[in-house]
Amino acid sequence: MLKINQINVYYGASIHALKEISLEVKQGEIVTMIGANGAGKTSILKSISGLLVPKSGTITFESQNITGIPAKDIVKKGICHVPEGRRIFANMTVLENLELGAFLDSDKAAVKQRMKTVFERFPRLFERKNQSSGTLSGGEQQMLAMGRALMGKPRLLLLDEPSMGLAPILVQEIFNIIKEINDQGTTVLVVEQNAHQALSIAHRAYVLETGRIVLSGTADEVASSEDVKKAYLGG
Ligand code: ATP
Repeated sequence: MLKINQINVYYGASIHALKEISLEVKQGEIVTMIGANGAGKTSILKSISGLLVPKSGTITFESQNITGIPAKDIVKKGICHVPEGRRIFANMTVLENLELGAFLDSDKAAVKQRMKTVFERFPRLFERKNQSSGTLSGGEQQMLAMGRALMGKPRLLLLDEPSMGLAPILVQEIFNIIKEINDQGTTVLVVEQNAHQALSIAHRAYVLETGRIVLSGTADEVASSEDVKKAYLGG
């Protein structure tokens, strides 16, 4: 479904953030990328969603070359990015934020149906649908960001640290929801600091270090690597 072939990404002239990165996400998978701070995980997601343009290498989605095309066109192809820090519109209500997620879709009946599905999955958003989004708790804002992405009916969902800053009980809930979204047909690429949880729901995983992929395999293979255990799974 998604293929990244040897991309190199720079910030300015001197920061070489991604070095010859190649990775693949197959239809129906949950793939996770783990790695220390600054390893390049966010930069990979931004390259896929068109927010960063690789200096070399290619990104293809469903066999189409999408390298360097504008972010708004990438969304139209069915890729939705939930950035780190959520980026909801704080002054708008929950409902308005969700509606924005579907603004490209002119099929009002389908949008209404999707809204219903999002509210079923996130009952807490339904209870607060008229509340100003900036007053939601951190976990609720994360749910809203994911709900808004689902309103765009993505085929590939890019999630950047969905569990960041959440209480342990909510972390589990967010991972359960990611699993459910995937079970219902959405392919997921998720970046996580919480390696243990991410590996427990993922099919496959990539480990990044300073802009390079140093290990990849099935989630079980990666989780049983001694280096990964030491560095990311607390021994
Ligand atoms: P984290 O887990 O801390 O979010 P990450 O793995 O997502 O880290 P990136 O945010 O992709 O890492 O950053 C990769 C490298 O690129 C880092 O060295 C970072 O300092 C650098 N970088 C990221 N954004 C910029 C920017 N706007 N300008 C300059 N350097 C940047």
